[in-house]
Amino acid sequence: MAAQTFDVVVVGAGPAGYVAAIRAAQLGFKTALVEKRKTLGGTCLNVGCIPSKALLDSSEKYHLATHGLAAHGITVGKVSVDVPAMIKRKDDVVAKMTGGVAFLMKKNKVTVINGWGKLTSATMVSVDNGAEELTAKHIILAAGSEVIELPHLKFDGTDVLSSTEALNLTSVPKHLIVVGAGVIGLEMGSVWSRLGAKVTLVDVMDRILTVMDRDVTDEAQKIFAKQGLDFKLGAKVIGLKKDKSGLTLDIEEAGGNVTQLTGDKVLVAVGRRPNTDKLGLADVGVKLDNRGRIEVDSHYRTNVPGVYAVGDCIQGPMLAHKAEEEGVAVAELIAGQAGHVNYNAIPWVVYTWPEIAGVGYSEDEAKQKGHEVKVGKFTFRANGRATAMGEVEGFCKIIADATTDRLLGMHIIGANASEMIAEGAIAMEFAASAEDLARSVHAHPTLAEIMKEAALAVDKRSLHS
Ligand code: FAD
Repeated sequence: MAAQTFDVVVVGAGPAGYVAAIRAAQLGFKTALVEKRKTLGGTCLNVGCIPSKALLDSSEKYHLATHGLAAHGITVGKVSVDVPAMIKRKDDVVAKMTGGVAFLMKKNKVTVINGWGKLTSATMVSVDNGAEELTAKHIILAAGSEVIELPHLKFDGTDVLSSTEALNLTSVPKHLIVVGAGVIGLEMGSVWSRLGAKVTLVDVMDRILTVMDRDVTDEAQKIFAKQGLDFKLGAKVIGLKKDKSGLTLDIEEAGGNVTQLTGDKVLVAVGRRPNTDKLGLADVGVKLDNRGRIEVDSHYRTNVPGVYAVGDCIQGPMLAHKAEEEGVAVAELIAGQAGHVNYNAIPWVVYTWPEIAGVGYSEDEAKQKGHEVKVGKFTFRANGRATAMGEVEGFCKIIADATTDRLLGMHIIGANASEMIAEGAIAMEFAASAEDLARSVHAHPTLAEIMKEAALAVDKRSLHS
């Protein structure tokens, strides 16, 4: 069978790959997108960002009905939860979104090829062991990432779960033990805790969300503990026993003491690894770094001319919006344009309640980078809108360079932090100073005023505290 010829072939239809395909097609390239999954959208749309947010939203509504409405003077009758209906709604949301990507491929005249893509030379991708062959001058690898499995906690799909199965439980576990108190562990733990499970998070580190600003994560841990999440930190899972009474984990605590923890489900959420196996990389000589990620230069070029890589399978934070931006940038660079991603201004969000969001340096990081810093903080409690909403937990923290006043980081814990952080990201992108934020007019009453007041606090002149 003759090979089909394209200008650009993209392997992997997650946020990095499908966005790269759209942008390449917009730029006039004849483009093909190869995806092994039946549906498009990658981890993000199928088993990641979108389904987890659908369940977070549903469980938040249940929690509001059972715990939050009385304070607003609203009385509801008996509230119950139908887990299969909630999961079906989540599946419908996923189907809508993945169908939307298929529509976008048609609209942009991207040829979608379903099957396992493997690089067989610098200009050829073979699909399903040669069932189809595609040649292209430019090949973009966007194979994403997959869950990390621990040797003594092998996924079995029913008791020891990855995030994928934790998105599909059909009843509420009695005791869900989450190994890993990072973003995914906290989000999925929150879902099942709100629906009635006892949730214990075990982490080898001595604090949750270790890469984030310490003030924010300390506050988050206090709030989550108040909500009923149990934490066993500085503790390592060293073994698992399954019997009729459930699952028993052996946990080595700091100091070497070994204790047992029994539950009915274990979610292992200790991170993800780049999906670079069986892509044919070694045969074609594409170099990986010491963490198994595809090595690229600042233009997303691998060491093999014509072969590029973007998204979770290269270095950098494993975030959908980072992957998308790289998808756009690589297509523009291939077209000879000035594609660029500003890695200092990539926001991140934890969709717990309250939400946690940040952009730029944490205070410790800013100091490690040699900045003398000024810090401004403002609480949700002192804000009119937050008080009206009954959402007074949390604060915004702004870090600025003490000499130049340039914004170095913004960190928020509180209601709607996921939407608020866009202001911080735009301010960082435009190299704003704290004073720029402080002098910008923010509508009243809004949660956004919290960021303005935090910016004023950098100069010790907040008005409402
Ligand atoms: P992926 O989305 O992993 O896509 C890669 C695609 O390539 C997959 O569809 C895969 O099937 C395909 N593929 C791989 N190898 C081949 C091959 N050889 N041939 C053909 N196809 C292949 N990020 C956020 O920014 N916000 C969030 O709220 C968020 N929530 C998350 C929640 C969960 C539970 C999880 C697991 C992840 C979450 N993420 C979130 C992370 C986000 O999903 C990833 O960062 C993002 O999907 C990375 O995009 P990507 O295109 O690089 O890779």
